[in-house]
Amino acid sequence: MDCIFCKIVAGDVPADKLLENDHVIAFRDLNPQAPHHVLIIPRRHIATVNELSPADAALVGEMSLAAGQVARELGVADDGYRLVLNCNRNGGQTVFHIHMHLLAGRQLGWPPG
Ligand code: 5GP
Ligand code: ZN
Repeated sequence: MDCIFCKIVAGDVPADKLLENDHVIAFRDLNPQAPHHVLIIPRRHIATVNELSPADAALVGEMSLAAGQVARELGVADDGYRLVLNCNRNGGQTVFHIHMHLLAGRQLGWPPG
C-alpha cells in the first residue's frame, strides 16, 4: 500500500516524532500552519473517519489522549490549541490515513477556512 503515513509508522520515511506508543505516533507536520503543528496518527491504517467502527473507539480515545500529552509537553496546554480531523474532499483531507492535527502557538481564527 502506498501510504506515506504507513511508511512513517514503519520507519521507512523519517519524521520528527514527539510521542510513540503501542497505538499511535505523533510527529511534526512537514508544512506547519502554526508555530506548533503536530499530527497524531494510529499505527494501523484507517483511510478516513468514515471507516472507523465501534471497535476503534478506544483507538480514537488514544489519539485524543496523545494529543493532550503532546500539548502538555510542548507547554501549550494552558494557552490552548486546536485539534482537527479532516475528512474527504470538502474537509480538505489530502493524506488518506486518519490523523489528528494539533495546532498551537498562536491565536487561531474561527471559523476555519
Ligand atoms: P490533511 O490535509 O490530509 O488533513 O493533512 C495532511 C497533512 O500531512 C498536511 O498538513 C501535510 O503537510 C502533512 N504531510 C504530508 N506528507 C507528509 C510527510 O511526509 N511528513 C510529514 N511530517 N507531514 C506530511
Ligand atoms: Zn496508512
